[in-house]
Amino acid sequence: MKSAADRQLKNTRRLAEARRVVVKVGSSLLVNEQSGELDQIWLDALIDDVVMLHRRGQQPVLVSSGAIALGRRRLDLAPGRLQLKDSQAAAAVGQIHLARAYSTSLARFGLTGAQILLTIGDTERRTRYLNARDTMETLLALGAVPVINENDTVATAEIRYGDNDRLAARVAQLAGADCLVMLSDVDALYDADPRHTQDSRPIDEVTRITPELEQAAGSATTACGTGGMVTKLAAAKIATAAGCSMVIASGRVPHPITALEAGGRCTWFPARANSITVRKRWIAGHLEIRGAYSVDAGAARALADGKSLLPAGTVAIRGEFARGDAVAVIDHDGLEIARGLSAYASTDAQRLLGQRSGEIEKLLGYRGPDELIHRGDLVLTDDLGPADD
Ligand code: GLU
Repeated sequence: MKSAADRQLKNTRRLAEARRVVVKVGSSLLVNEQSGELDQIWLDALIDDVVMLHRRGQQPVLVSSGAIALGRRRLDLAPGRLQLKDSQAAAAVGQIHLARAYSTSLARFGLTGAQILLTIGDTERRTRYLNARDTMETLLALGAVPVINENDTVATAEIRYGDNDRLAARVAQLAGADCLVMLSDVDALYDADPRHTQDSRPIDEVTRITPELEQAAGSATTACGTGGMVTKLAAAKIATAAGCSMVIASGRVPHPITALEAGGRCTWFPARANSITVRKRWIAGHLEIRGAYSVDAGAARALADGKSLLPAGTVAIRGEFARGDAVAVIDHDGLEIARGLSAYASTDAQRLLGQRSGEIEKLLGYRGPDELIHRGDLVLTDDLGPADD
């Protein structure tokens, strides 16, 4: 059995060693409940921490609530629970202020903030998932810091995430993040609701989310945000299954990520599998295969070396498929050597066969990706080891 100190050391390393870190900020941290104004001093201190991650070579992605809380006061909406149409209106007003506050704060360090507003279909449907992911990858490659919120203005009750905890977990999955930091006004998960039970104790690590734990989490919510422990546990399930570790920590301190790394109270949910393995299994096993690319010997060798599939080495296409569909890759002996998500629909891919990537714009009339299957979306048929859980 590991000691608490060992566990803490191991867990803190999860954050320090993560390549991509999603940081989720709750409304109640950012927006003063009484005045309805944004706390720029707190935000600046948080951004100091985010810049620290960036300077260490990590790629921070922010998921921030606060649009509705910021907008409602400006529209003089009555306190209490808002009707859907009023929260949509409030979000439209507040999101402008939220985005400006982040971009101003990041600009102090010469960093560029990039707003992404997502609805549930953007992470649940494959084509839109790929589009959202490509945008995020491009922004990160260009050194920008994505600041994400739900697109509350168009999201109706049926198509909402409804809380940014689950949204943050989906973003972590979409971004292939290794660590999700949930900053909120509670500093950890407790074995009983601390508001009602005096001797409740914080839990430093959760390796399995049991029904008892869910029960103990109750349904704590604050006046400002919509999340609580229940949504945080739901988020932990999504994130850890996607290979991303999650930590709940207090945002009620000026430099919350520094405080967390210095050993501040928190609850860790270690990833249940490696994110690359999870993704590869998902590609290899859980999708309907809609078609196939036949490739020449050079392309087959390139794939075995971990490269992407380019149009140049592709000689034929079978089946009809859309961008984002799963397809097989067949070598010149007719053997399946890989599976992946096609970056092009079959009709477009047909016109690219055997061509150089530089010709794509001329052939299709738009500048699509250079590869038919990006290496991140590709898994070699004999590359999967045994399952880890
Ligand atoms: N997306 C909402 C907003 O920005 C917040 C949802 C939540 O509180 O989790 O105001």
